[in-house]
Amino acid sequence: MIEVFLSNPGVEFTLRQLLSMLSLRDSEAKRLLNDINHAAKTIRRRTNNKAYLAMRPPICRDCGYVFKELDSAWRPGKCPRCKSERITQPSFILIRRD
Ligand SMILES: [Zn+2]
Repeated sequence: MIEVFLSNPGVEFTLRQLLSMLSLRDSEAKRLLNDINHAAKTIRRRTNNKAYLAMRPPICRDCGYVFKELDSAWRPGKCPRCKSERITQPSFILIRRD
């Protein structure tokens, strides 16, 4: 999975795309998010901090609430403001500091 990001800098992948690329079921999303957190650390180390993995946070489609806390990858179940479950998928992108 690390290679997916390293060989596609600047390309944004949604959580759903990553699941299908890795032939994982939606129920395995939690494990994938965990792997993404590990990958973020590995990418930083392997590139000597010249690249890092960024996450576009999920957003509530009903009220526009932006889910912040970007320290680690995760996917909210519902909106804390309006309780909607129409939440966009988080997506991930490798950014180079050139
Ligand atoms: Zn909401």
